[in-house]
Amino acid sequence: MLKGKTALVTGSTSGIGLAVAKSLAQQGANIVLNGFGDASAPRAEVEALGVRAEYHGADMSKPEQIEDMMKFAASKFGRVDILVNNAGIQHVAKVEDFPTERWDAIIAINLSSAFHTTRLAIPAMREANWGRVINIASAHGLVASAQKSAYVAAKHGVVGLTKAVALETATTGVTVNAICPGWVLTALVQKQIDDRAAREGITAAQAQNDLLGEKQPSLQFTTVEQLGGLAVFLCSPAADQVRGVAWAMDGGWTAQ
Ligand code: NAD
Repeated sequence: MLKGKTALVTGSTSGIGLAVAKSLAQQGANIVLNGFGDASAPRAEVEALGVRAEYHGADMSKPEQIEDMMKFAASKFGRVDILVNNAGIQHVAKVEDFPTERWDAIIAINLSSAFHTTRLAIPAMREANWGRVINIASAHGLVASAQKSAYVAAKHGVVGLTKAVALETATTGVTVNAICPGWVLTALVQKQIDDRAAREGITAAQAQNDLLGEKQPSLQFTTVEQLGGLAVFLCSPAADQVRGVAWAMDGGWTAQ
C-alpha cells in the first residue's frame, strides 16, 4: 500500500517509534530512522522487510539539527510523504520541584520538535497533494496526571498543533492526526515501574499491576504492534477524511 512512499519517524531507535517504522515498512514504505543509541540493529530490522532505510541522529531539542535531518531525508528520498512525530521523554516531579531544565527539554523534544518537522515537511506534501502527519501524543494529551506537568502540557500542545495543522490542510490530500496511547511497556514506562517499585519497596511485577490498575481499565498494556497498525490505517485511503483527531488507544483510560 505504501510502496514508493517515504516515512520519517522521529525517536525510532526503540519502542513505539521503531514498531511504527516497521509497520510502515511492511507496507512498502522506505524509512528514515532517528533517535539516540546505536541505529545499526533498528536499521537492519527495517531493511530486512525489503525496503530502504536511512538514519539521521538529529537531537529533537535542536531546531538546526531537525532542519538538517529534513534536508537529509529529501536528499535521500526526494521528500517525506509520512511524518511520524514520536520522539519523547518523561520526567515525574511536583511542579514546585520540577527542574526547569527538564521542563524546557520536554517542551522542546515532545512538542516543539513536531512544529519544526511539520513546518518543514508540509510544503512538499502540499505539492504532491498527498501526505500524512501522525503525532504520537498520549492519553496525557487528553487528560492529566499529577506530577507530569511538562509532559501533560506538551502532549496537550501536540493535540492542539494536530488540530490546527489539520484545518490548514483540510482541502488537500494531506491529513494530520494524533495517536494517544495509554500505557505501553517500553523503556520510558519500564523506568516509571522500576522507580515505583524502589520507592514503595514492592516488586516490579506488583508495581506494573498497580500502574495499570490506576489508569488502564483493560489492565493490559497497549502493544507497539497495535499502535503500528493504527498508523498504517491512518496512512490508508480509508482514512482520507480522518482529520485532526486525537485517537485514543488506551485500554479505556480516557473513557473514565
Ligand atoms: P522510548 O524511550 O522507548 O523511545 C523514545 C525514542 O525517542 C528513542 O528512540 C529515543 O532515542 C528517542 N529520543 C529521546 N530523546 C530524543 C531526542 N532529544 N532527539 C531524538 N530522539 C530522541 O519511549 P516510547 O515509550 O517508545 O515513547 C515514544 C513516544 O510515545 C513518546 O513521545 C512518548 O511520550 C509516547 N507515549 C508513550 C507511552 C508509553 O506508555 N510508553 C504512552 C503514551 C505516549
